[in-house]
Amino acid sequence: MQSVLTQSVGRLKGVGQKRKEALNHLGIYSILDLLLYFPFRYEDLSVKDLHEIQDRQKIVLEGLILNSPIVQYFGRNKSRLLTHITVEGIVIPIVFFNQPYLKDKLEKGNTLKVFGTWDSARAQLSGIKIIGSHSNEENFESIYPASKEIKSQTIAKLIKQAWDTYHFAIPVVWPEHLKVAYHLLSLKEIIVGMHFPNRDEEYEWARRSFAFLELFAYQLNILQLKMRQEQAGHAILYDNEALKHFFAQLPFELTGAQKRCVNEICADLRRPHQMYRLLQGDVGSGKTVVSAAAMFAAYTAGLQSALMVPTEILAQQHFETLKKMFASYPIRIALLTGNTPSKERKKYLEQLETGKIDIVVGTHALIQEDVHFYHLGFILIDEQHRFGVEQRRALRKKGDHPDILFMTATPIPRTLSITSFGEMDISSIDELPPQRKAVRTHWIKPRQLRSLMEWLNPQIEQGAQIYVISPLIEESEHLEAETLDSLFLEYRSHLKDTIRIECLHGQMSADDKQLIMERFKNHEIDVLISTTVIEVGVDVPNAIGMVIHNADRFGLSQLHQLRGRVGRGDKASFCILIAEPRTEEGRQRLEIMVATNDGFVLSQKDLQMRGPGDWFGKSQSGNIEFKVADLVKDAEIVEVTRLEAEKIYQQKNEQDYKKLEEFLQLINKQENNLDILD
Ligand code: ADP
Ligand code: MG
Repeated sequence: MQSVLTQSVGRLKGVGQKRKEALNHLGIYSILDLLLYFPFRYEDLSVKDLHEIQDRQKIVLEGLILNSPIVQYFGRNKSRLLTHITVEGIVIPIVFFNQPYLKDKLEKGNTLKVFGTWDSARAQLSGIKIIGSHSNEENFESIYPASKEIKSQTIAKLIKQAWDTYHFAIPVVWPEHLKVAYHLLSLKEIIVGMHFPNRDEEYEWARRSFAFLELFAYQLNILQLKMRQEQAGHAILYDNEALKHFFAQLPFELTGAQKRCVNEICADLRRPHQMYRLLQGDVGSGKTVVSAAAMFAAYTAGLQSALMVPTEILAQQHFETLKKMFASYPIRIALLTGNTPSKERKKYLEQLETGKIDIVVGTHALIQEDVHFYHLGFILIDEQHRFGVEQRRALRKKGDHPDILFMTATPIPRTLSITSFGEMDISSIDELPPQRKAVRTHWIKPRQLRSLMEWLNPQIEQGAQIYVISPLIEESEHLEAETLDSLFLEYRSHLKDTIRIECLHGQMSADDKQLIMERFKNHEIDVLISTTVIEVGVDVPNAIGMVIHNADRFGLSQLHQLRGRVGRGDKASFCILIAEPRTEEGRQRLEIMVATNDGFVLSQKDLQMRGPGDWFGKSQSGNIEFKVADLVKDAEIVEVTRLEAEKIYQQKNEQDYKKLEEFLQLINKQENNLDILD
């Protein structure tokens, strides 16, 4: 869109090369950038009553000047100016330091409106600046994020100039019906309200309107991407009778939620476009069988499936599960990881390429360049957040627009799922299989450790297996082994000698880790002390106890993941959180863990407590930044903007969309890190 608003800020008076660069460093290039560069706080410049002000408070007073100011000089360039005004009939001394030139502006008998710091003890005001008594309406001073190169006040002046010169060019962005329905300000009004508010409510209204605009714009973009990707792909015409047979021979009946998810996935398979779906469900909710059904369906259509998981242990486990689940079918399954011997690997690669393998389970080894498929139709990615955008893309490049299903055991709060994962369809297994015994959670203090061991001893002797987890105390992998060592000694000295204890940590080789997990699975180990390497998906039904040290150092989602390692068999299980939290938030987290087992509830709380940035962790993609929208505070706006954006597309209301799109192009410079299909 060509607009005067896209012109460089260099156009403004007083902006030379140096200032322009200073603005650029703040991300301000165009006039519009400047107009949308919002204050991060406001100084309240409304006149206050004397009785409501407090010591050290920054306030504005207004009164008649009683006497001509007196200036005292002392030291070099140091001075003190004193005058008096009457406010509500009381005489108030006003002092200005090092601004002797103000003397000429303060004339006896005139009104003075002054901003300063109140000193209760002396009942006087330390003046900071004089506010033009005519500049009246601006009750708030906007404070902008500034830098060494450019001050907030300078930015404020430039914004005023930009507004005065260019406000006529600010486009109308809202479709009228939205503006009315959601009581939104126009973009012009938003800009005024953000920069020059008269009252708190005015600012809040502007902020809300702009949050709406940002979120709405974002949703339109996502939906457009989604439509584009839906044009590609193939129908997978699976054998429905065979699929029914598969369900009938399972040892259990699917839960209602599982059935619903299977239906959603199958409908995607049949449609002639690429599936791009996220299957989310709490640990133990039964995602495996749902995803296996999809692989089975692809198999009946003569297509290959690939299942990619983040770790060796998980790959092994899924491989075993699938072999069991498909035991009565002639489905050929292979396991391909970094540990596969090269001779075997060579054989598998050839079989994959010639279509002699139907399902391959693997780690990153699957995306290596020499891996080729005969006809890859369906891709499944478990613990999808563990993979980068590039890795996921590399796998789907191995097929011709294969259908893709992601899985996650960390339920994603709804506001995040429709922003950061908005380009995906989502299926949720929000119900656990029947007769699942809830894991009982207790929170104890470190000094109770000895009684805990006394309580554990008889249980372990009767055959229970226990996980013990410790976070890394130092953020260094090198100390991992040492951290565990001291814990090991502690347990060794308090648990009975016959109890077999081993450690598992990230510095071990994949082989060693594998071996230890294997032995734990076979009940050759009773107590497994570990860092969080066992976090993901490990399944040992006889492990009924999870003990987590320094539990306050983990986030809610991670604690819940860890707890999900137990309660997988038919025995009652427990989770012990050991912590003496130093913060209120740490205490709250532990209380929530004790109170609920529901991953959806926990993820919502986690979002509220940590905010969206931290929720994902550092490496997560799709973590988007908004200027003013707040995914926690504006959750409701997230919902309605999604609905309204969908409506615009469904009704093919291109006009409404065009108007916004033009504006989007102006403000959406920064590349969104979305996982876009190509
Ligand atoms: P997750 O969602 O954590 O991957 P799994 O798929 O591993 O969960 O399932 C956990 C356990 O529950 C498995 O042992 C599985 O066989 C069992 N399971 C799955 N669905 C059902 C069901 N509908 N009824 C009973 N047991 C089920
Ligand atoms: Mg699983």
